[in-house]
Amino acid sequence: MDYKASEHIQDLQYFGEFGGINPSISDSSTYTFLSAKTMFDTFEGNTEGCYLYSRHSSPSNLYLGEAMAQLEGTESANVYASGMGAITAVILQLCDSGDHIVCSRTIYGGTYAFLKNFVKKFNISVSFIDITDLNTVEKSITPKTKMIYCEAISNPLLEIADIPSLSKIAKKNSIPLVVDNTFSPLSISAAQLGADIVVHSLTKFINGSSDCVAGAVCASTDFCLSLKDVNNGAGMLLGSTMDSLRAASILKNMRTLHIRIKKHSENADYLAKQFLNDGLTVVYPGLENHPGHDLMNAQMNPEYGYGGMLTLDVGSVEKANALMESMQRKKLGYLAVSLGFYKTLFSASGTSTSSEIPEEEQKELGLSQGLIRFSIGLDNDIKKTYKTMRECMEELGILAPDTSFGLVLERKGLAQHSAKS
Ligand SMILES: *Cc1c(COP(=O)(O)O)cnc(C)c1O
Repeated sequence: MDYKASEHIQDLQYFGEFGGINPSISDSSTYTFLSAKTMFDTFEGNTEGCYLYSRHSSPSNLYLGEAMAQLEGTESANVYASGMGAITAVILQLCDSGDHIVCSRTIYGGTYAFLKNFVKKFNISVSFIDITDLNTVEKSITPKTKMIYCEAISNPLLEIADIPSLSKIAKKNSIPLVVDNTFSPLSISAAQLGADIVVHSLTKFINGSSDCVAGAVCASTDFCLSLKDVNNGAGMLLGSTMDSLRAASILKNMRTLHIRIKKHSENADYLAKQFLNDGLTVVYPGLENHPGHDLMNAQMNPEYGYGGMLTLDVGSVEKANALMESMQRKKLGYLAVSLGFYKTLFSASGTSTSSEIPEEEQKELGLSQGLIRFSIGLDNDIKKTYKTMRECMEELGILAPDTSFGLVLERKGLAQHSAKS
C-alpha cells in the first residue's frame, strides 16, 4: 500500500475568519436561519452543508471530520465524543432487533462488553470468532448478519486482520466490513484495503497527548449522513457529540501524526528486536516470528513502520506488576491504560483493559496474566531506555544479568571514555 494520507491532511487549507492560518473555532450551540423555510427544509432532512444545532454538526467538527476522511481516504467522516461513542453509533445504526454480528474475539474490552452484554437489550446476537480464520468467518455469516467487525491490529494480542480477504467475504454477502483502526493510523489504510466503515478512537495516537477522549467514523457520505439523520441517526440521537473546542485542538495535533507514528514505530521496533534477542516472549508485528508479519507487510504503508504497540509476557501477574512499578519509578513511563502518549504507557491487559473478558476466555485466546501491553513512547534515546528496562528486568530475575560479549565491550568502551575525559 502506498496511500499518502499525511500529504492529504497537510494540504487541507482552512483560513480563520480573519485570515488566520488556523480555522476559527465555532463557539455556538445553535445557528440562525435567514428564512423560516430553510429551517423547515433542514428538519425535513435536507441538512447537507447546513448548520442547525451543534449536536448535529458544527464547523469545527466538520473540519476535523474532513481531516479524518483524508486519513482513511473515505468520502466523509463524522467525529464523536469518544471512540465508544463512534463504535456504538455504527453498530446500532446498522442493526435492528433480531440481527446478528460476526465479530473478532480479540477486540478492545469496551467494544467486547458492549457486544457481549449490552446489545442483548436490543435482541442483537454476536458470534465471536478467530478473525484470522477466514473459513470460520464465512461460515458464521447468517441471513441475519449485518456486519463483520474487527480491529486492523487487535487489542491486546496484536493479531493482524486480513482486510482485503475479509472485504471480499463481506461483499459476497452484501454486508459492510467495519474495522477499528485505532492501533494503526497511517500504518494501515483500512478503507483503501477494502473496509467499508473505519472507526477510530482519537483518544490514542491520533490526538496523541492523552488529554481527551474522542472518536470518529470514516465512511461513505451516505452512511455518515445517515448517522446524523434527525429522525433515525444513531449519532444524532444517542448524542455523543464532540465539543468544537476539542475538535479544533485535535485537528492541530493531527498535523504531526506522521512524525509521531514514525518515531513510535522506530522505538517499538528497536525494543522488540532487543527483547527477542534476550529470549523474552515478545509480540510485535514487525518481528518475523509474528504470525501476521507477512500480512502486515502486504497491507502496511511501509514508511510509517509497524506501529508503537508491543506485548511482553513475563510469566505471572506478580512479575508483571513488579516490573511495571519498577519501570515507572525509573521514569521509563507510566503504569496506565491507553496508548499513543509521548511517554511509554504499560498495563497488564488481563487485569485491566481486557478484564471484561472472563479469565477462562482470556486463557483460550492466549491472553495470559503475565502479559504486559506497551504503548512505546517518543523517547529520544531508546537505547538508554532499553538499558534501563534491562536493569529493571535483571533486578526482578526476569532476565539473567547480561554477560554477553557486546554489552561487555560497550561497558569497556564507556570505561575507556570516562578514563580519557
Ligand atoms: C480506546 C479504544 C477504544 C475506545 O475509545 P474511547 O475513546 O476510549 O471511547 C476502541 N477501540 C480501541 C482499539 C481502543 O484502543
